Amino acid sequence: MFKRIKGQTQVIKLLQNAILHERISHAYLFHGSDGVGKFISALYFGMALNCQSEDKEKPCGVCASCHKFLFLEHPDLLYVFPTTNLKLSTEGEIKDNEALAQYKAYIGNKLESPWQDFYFDGSTEIRKESISLLIKRLELSMHEGKYRVLIIENADAMNSATANAFLKTLEEPPKNTVIILITERLPKLLPTIISRCQPVYFKPLSQKVIREILMEQFEVVGFAAKSAARICGGNLKAAIRIAREDHHSAREKAFEFLQLAAQGDTLQFLDQSAKTRETIDGTRDLIAHLGGIINDLAVLPFAAQEITNLDKSEYLGQLASEELSEKVPDFLLKLDDYTRKLAGNVNPALLQLNLFISLRKLLLAK
Ligand SMILES: [Zn+2]
Repeated sequence: MFKRIKGQTQVIKLLQNAILHERISHAYLFHGSDGVGKFISALYFGMALNCQSEDKEKPCGVCASCHKFLFLEHPDLLYVFPTTNLKLSTEGEIKDNEALAQYKAYIGNKLESPWQDFYFDGSTEIRKESISLLIKRLELSMHEGKYRVLIIENADAMNSATANAFLKTLEEPPKNTVIILITERLPKLLPTIISRCQPVYFKPLSQKVIREILMEQFEVVGFAAKSAARICGGNLKAAIRIAREDHHSAREKAFEFLQLAAQGDTLQFLDQSAKTRETIDGTRDLIAHLGGIINDLAVLPFAAQEITNLDKSEYLGQLASEELSEKVPDFLLKLDDYTRKLAGNVNPALLQLNLFISLRKLLLAK
C-alpha cells in the first residue's frame, strides 16, 4: 500500500524502517505544503502499525483492521481536525444537528474526494473541548488495535491555550499511542509543540510524479496531465482539481481576467466580480492558470513554440515584449505569495482584486 504514495520515497522509507525495527516515536510532526501526501501517509502508517496480515509488506489494505482504517472507522484511530463549535456533550456527542451534518460531510469528502477542500460554514479551529475529550479518551483502554493512532490535521489551528492543554499528553502519551500532527504552516505551531515531536518533512511533488499519478490513478490523458502538473506548484490536490474540473472553462476564466487587466478595465472587473461568489479553490486554480499564462508571456519573445497555451499565441503575442519578460520572474513570486495567503483564511474576492491590480500594473508597464 505504501507504494501507492508517490514522490515521498524518503518519508516512506523512514516510516517503514520505524515499523521494521520497532522504533516508533510517540509523536510525529508531518509538515510540508498542501497536497503532497501528509494525511494519506499518516493514515497508512497507522494502518501498518495495526495491520493483521502475516505479510512483511504492511499495510495490506485488505485485513479487517486495514479496512476500518481506510473508512476512518477503526475504534483506535482518533482523528481530529479544525471544526466550528460542535457543541459537544460531555460524552463527546455532537449535539447540534447542523454541526453534525457538516462534520459528517467533512469526513465524507475526505473519503470520497480528498482533493476538494471542504469548508465549514463559519470559522474553524481545533477547540479546547475536542482536545479535552481526546485526552479523556486516551485514558480509556484500547479497543482492538496494537497501537492507538491519533491524527491531528492542521495542528496549527490550535490556539495557544489549547496547545498548552495538549502538551503533557504530547510529551508522555499513554503506552502504544502514536500521535501524528499534520501542518502546512509549521511556523504557526508553538515551539514547545514542535520540540516534542519527530519532524517529518514532505517535499512538493515533482511535475513528473504528478503527471504519472494523474494518468495512472485518475485516467487523465497525457496532454491535460502535463499541463495540470506544470501549473499546480507541486500540489497534487490542485493538479487533480485542474485536470478533472472543466479545464477549459477555468483556463478561459484566467484569460478573461488577463484581458480585463490588459485593458485596464477595473470597473468591468469589479462588476463581474460582484456577480460571482469567489471560492478559495477557484481562486487558487485561477492563480495557477495565470502563472502558466504569464510564464508563456515571458517565454514568447524567445521561444514561441515552447509555450503552453499555443492556441492563444496570437493574443499573447500582442502583450509580450522583452521588457515584460524581465519583470515576469518577480510577478511569478508574487503569485506564489498570493497562493500562500489563500491558505491563511483570506477573502478570495479581495485577493482577486489585489491580484487584478498587480497584473494590470505589470501589463501596462511594458
Ligand atoms: Zn492489513
